[in-house]
Amino acid sequence: MKLNTSAMRYLSNDDFRVLTATEMGSKNHEIVPTVLIAQIAGLRGGAGVGNCISELAKANLIARVKNAKYDGYRLTYGGYDYLAIKAFSNRRTVYSVGNQIGVGKESDIFVVANEKGRKCVLKIHRLGRISFRSVKNNRDYLRNRQSASWMYLSRLAAQKEFSFMKALYENGFAVPEPIDYSRHCIVMSLIPGFPMRQLSSHEDPSTLYSSLMSFIVRLANHGLIHCDFNEFNIMILDEPKSEDEQFVVIDFPQCVSIDHVDAERYFRRDVDCIRLFFEKKLGYFSEDYPVFKRDVKRVASLDIDVQASGFSKKMVKEFEKAISESREKVEDEFDHESVEEDNYEDDDDDDDEDEDDKVEEEQEDELRSDDNSAGEPGDAEESS
Ligand code: ADP
Ligand code: MG
Repeated sequence: MKLNTSAMRYLSNDDFRVLTATEMGSKNHEIVPTVLIAQIAGLRGGAGVGNCISELAKANLIARVKNAKYDGYRLTYGGYDYLAIKAFSNRRTVYSVGNQIGVGKESDIFVVANEKGRKCVLKIHRLGRISFRSVKNNRDYLRNRQSASWMYLSRLAAQKEFSFMKALYENGFAVPEPIDYSRHCIVMSLIPGFPMRQLSSHEDPSTLYSSLMSFIVRLANHGLIHCDFNEFNIMILDEPKSEDEQFVVIDFPQCVSIDHVDAERYFRRDVDCIRLFFEKKLGYFSEDYPVFKRDVKRVASLDIDVQASGFSKKMVKEFEKAISESREKVEDEFDHESVEEDNYEDDDDDDDEDEDDKVEEEQEDELRSDDNSAGEPGDAEESS
């Protein structure tokens, strides 16, 4: 999806307040009534709010939902992107947005830079995008909870990925440095390299193979299985630091604990992905590969630490359930081209209250700040 940052330049502080108010209102309303938007935004004078709303709608940051029981608006993907990037900009973690370098099924990746010119990567999670696209012309569809729950899922994915990346980075794993996150977006260091799938030969495949297998085992010894450990998610460094430090691993939203019921199977799948790639692409075959029961010995509990740091066990469960439901649904929609009501409820659930509180704090800060361009450097740490 296109990331449109042009609105950032001309939207006024009042427009921004109204946009933030729409986001806050969507916590309890799939279509946020116009009066509620005005109330939350706390702007004096109805005409002012009306103007802001039409500016925001023109910029596609919110969308009017017609034929509803009441007149109202919903936040669009564009509006959600805007809010996240604005938060990064306030916290000085992102100053400019550059080229898109990746487009996954469920994410968009951009190169961004901070004020000092340091290049980083912005990953925007877009869960359920395919499903959303396939039915975007169906107006009824947009009127149900679906779009809100895609945003909720994308936010969970970003939060999960950030928490795992942080825990791994702090424990010396070769992963990007996590820099900031907001809503469905994360900012991380840019890895100077290329995905392993582009490798067609290697001068010393056995060393690379062994260090990849060691990564998988060490990760499991720390309580985690990547679950998508393949040639797309392993970046080969342009300039390897040493024989054992030739790569960086990315893409963590699907990570699971070694206590997961399917842990052994996921572990074997990660191992097999590497074996297959080395055999097929690099012509390297080894009988030597790690086995979950034999080789994994827990030495640390990053799986538990991460839960304690914000991504709770209940959130993990809820996320896994929602992901598998939404994926089944996507397949279903492709099969039958039908659109059904999404029964995934998020707002009434107490389980993610902590996370909601955090988002609310961020939103309230944004509403409070009269000059939205002023952010405190170092705020980023608070969000982690
Ligand atoms: P997805 O979940 O869509 O697979 P990834 O996190 O795997 O997203 O990123 C998709 C692609 O974007 C990667 O294959 C890689 O080419 C590029 N990419 C992602 N993160 C980084 C990074 N930190 N540095 C450099 N390139 C990156
Ligand atoms: Mg990937």
